[in-house]
Amino acid sequence: MSMSDDALETFRTEVRTWLEENCPPEMRDGASGEDAIVWGGRNWKFTSDAQKLWLDRMAAKGWTVPTWPVEYGGGGLDRAHHKILFEEMRAIGARVPLQSFGIWMLGPALLAFGSHEQKLQYLPPIARGEVRWCQGYSEPGAGSDLASVQTKADSDGDHYIVNGQKIWTSYADKADCIFALVRTDRDAPKHLGITFLLIDMETPGVTTKPIRLISGKSPFCETFFDDVHVPKANVVGTENRGWDVAKHLLTHEREMISGGGQGLLGGRPLGVVLNEQEGGLTDPVLRAEAMGCEVDALAVALTLERYKDQAESGGGVGDASAMLKYAGTELNKRRHELMMSAGGSDALEWDGKYGGLASDWLRTKANSIEGGTSEVMLSIISRRVLGLPT
Ligand SMILES: Cc1cc2nc3c(=O)[nH]c(=O)nc-3n(C[C@H](O)[C@H](O)[C@H](O)COP(=O)(O)OP(=O)(O)OC[C@H]3O[C@@H](n4cnc5c(N)ncnc54)[C@H](O)[C@@H]3O)c2cc1C
Repeated sequence: MSMSDDALETFRTEVRTWLEENCPPEMRDGASGEDAIVWGGRNWKFTSDAQKLWLDRMAAKGWTVPTWPVEYGGGGLDRAHHKILFEEMRAIGARVPLQSFGIWMLGPALLAFGSHEQKLQYLPPIARGEVRWCQGYSEPGAGSDLASVQTKADSDGDHYIVNGQKIWTSYADKADCIFALVRTDRDAPKHLGITFLLIDMETPGVTTKPIRLISGKSPFCETFFDDVHVPKANVVGTENRGWDVAKHLLTHEREMISGGGQGLLGGRPLGVVLNEQEGGLTDPVLRAEAMGCEVDALAVALTLERYKDQAESGGGVGDASAMLKYAGTELNKRRHELMMSAGGSDALEWDGKYGGLASDWLRTKANSIEGGTSEVMLSIISRRVLGLPT
């Protein structure tokens, strides 16, 4: 055993002991469904004392954002130590204490493009779950062609005056702040007139209108800006160069979404899940398909690991996130199709013995749209990963 292996094993023991002493028993059920998620924010209501205690303890260690620098509320862990924390949490079924767009998207963008003051101002509240962010990218005329955003920010001294509309803004009605792409130069080529701007949702002139889905839920909103005054100090990066920030953020968003390929079953092999269903998985065709899906899931998981390793050694996942997102989300759809096939007509019952399987299956359809559609991912892969002629 090398010295570094020794150090890692020591860390593993420390983590195991700390988790044993600090993870409340109620938070060890491995739950990852909608009811178990803590999004945080100024108006967040915890469902139990244990949920709050768990978040507070993990945040105090910096382990809600284990790899962020300590001075910005993180744990300062490198990849090897982060992996150990993840493995030990998983071993006792510990819930993820906090999930948020701040952690997945804004944080990485601020770490790469924000000033030191911005990092100090925005990152620790994200890490503690005190401020909830939403993403103001898409507009009625700008989805796949995101650089066509028209929401405008006109200069007015040390402020901008923002006018326009965003759409599909997930949880905008529950968020405290929004990171938005706004147009600050209407004469420049479209990619060069965009600015990445942070806006408090309580600023006068910001309103949201939830979009009601056929399921009765409203997970996203239209977001309107009417003469909203925003300090210029809230620009991340440089005015008119927000496209660079936006693209960087998207690589993290896509990497996060790609994890859905393994994540939605709590990492349990599909064959095991299917076998637990009534009568076991006896159909030979379904058995073969399930195994094929498992092999592909392992390949995606290993590829994701390889890219994360490369990212730490300075390479960055970059455009490969398009590949991971495409593979992970298409795989997730395939897994759910298989589970529906195995469940037969019973699986279609909304509240039947298969619980939320039908709604989970329908939700997977959105995986390959959010964060950029599969068609757009294929286009990025062909041009930027494979270097094929356009
Ligand atoms: C669950 C969910 C949550 C979301 N949350 C957010 C959020 O929080 N914030 C936010 O800003 N946005 C959010 N979105 C919006 C999402 O980013 C857009 O839906 C997505 O980028 C596609 O844009 P669009 O809907 O305008 O479709 P369009 O761009 O109009 O595309 C329509 C169809 O045309 C195809 N297409 C378009 N251009 C091309 C091309 N060049 N080549 C090949 N095919 C093409 C697409 O693949 C698609 O099939 C969310 C979407 C979903 C489903």
